[in-house]
Amino acid sequence: MKEVTVFLVNETNLKDWMDVLPVNSYKKYKDPPVTCEVCGDKDFVGVLVIGAHNRSLFWECESCGNLHLKYGKGYTKKLLGKLEGLSINLDDFYDTPDTEELN
Ligand SMILES: [Zn+2]
Repeated sequence: MKEVTVFLVNETNLKDWMDVLPVNSYKKYKDPPVTCEVCGDKDFVGVLVIGAHNRSLFWECESCGNLHLKYGKGYTKKLLGKLEGLSINLDDFYDTPDTEELN
């Protein structure tokens, strides 16, 4: 199973992540869906959200980007709620040299 790690930023005025993210339904899929609820595609990647959970929270359709829940709606919202107040300075990432320092 392919997996991507994402850092979510809510740039909307919406409080509910379920309204912010491209979630079509609250049906939960313990394993990747057989077909996408929106477009019917069969390829998915697990989506790990930094700061929310150390495992994938969603199955993302590779064709249309729709997110399918891996856990129940309430639990998913609870985990995403941890992102409120989470502060990551993106400059810290950009300032990090991509080469090791040689001593
Ligand atoms: Zn799709």
